[in-house]
Amino acid sequence: MKKFVKIMAVIAAMGVMMSFAGCASTPTASKVKEKGVITMATNAAFPPFEYLKDNKVSGVDVDVANEIAKDLGVKLEIKDMEFDMVIPSVKAGKFDFGAAGITIREDRLKEVDFSVEYVKSSQYMVVQKGKSFTKDDLANMVIGVQQGTTGDLYASGDFDEDVKAKEVKQYKSAVEAAGDLKLGRIDAVIVDELPAKTIVEGAADKLELIDEKLTEESYALCVKKGNKTLLDSINKTLERLMNEGKIDEYVINHMGK
Ligand code: GLN
Repeated sequence: MKKFVKIMAVIAAMGVMMSFAGCASTPTASKVKEKGVITMATNAAFPPFEYLKDNKVSGVDVDVANEIAKDLGVKLEIKDMEFDMVIPSVKAGKFDFGAAGITIREDRLKEVDFSVEYVKSSQYMVVQKGKSFTKDDLANMVIGVQQGTTGDLYASGDFDEDVKAKEVKQYKSAVEAAGDLKLGRIDAVIVDELPAKTIVEGAADKLELIDEKLTEESYALCVKKGNKTLLDSINKTLERLMNEGKIDEYVINHMGK
């Protein structure tokens, strides 16, 4: 009898262990489905990718995210935050994924996993109308950037230590930096291509774009490291949208808004 109890106890313990193991290996995509909600971290100050419209976050990344949610059969919830909090909060597991026109970088790959790339981009200089700077002038310029972005890193000499601004002023958004540029407080704003074009479109009498590609970058969405099933699902949606030409369509729809 004792032996029987012992065997039963061992079987029960194994069952508990197996169910724990099962729990740990539960794919994140199924957890999202269980919750019925997928959460996205973003920074709604980066038009056309994300911006506030009637107090709601709108943009290319939101359109993409809605398709990801639709393919998973869940609702989408968006949290707006500072850009430099997007990766740390996804890394901490507070949100299921980050979508904020995020450039894939080696250092960021240590923090989170990236999806397939879905947009190509470059940094550009926005200046006061009539000014004709190039990157060779950077050493004598005060540059405004959004804190923690690749524009910030470029102006600070992270891409090429010989290409470095005299002074880098960090702002909460490139739009805010552009406000100071209009007032002549800084010499240029360095920001990603489409946000740069959007800023110039909104102030064509005061600002212009310098036609010089400063970097070559690719955007991707990010998830917490190891969330393979969720990443697979996100990648499937992204591949579908790219094959259908939807990303280009979203960009056209959100430019000039
Ligand atoms: N692509 C840039 C980066 O990843 C800027 C992104 C942003 O400001 N939303 O740093």
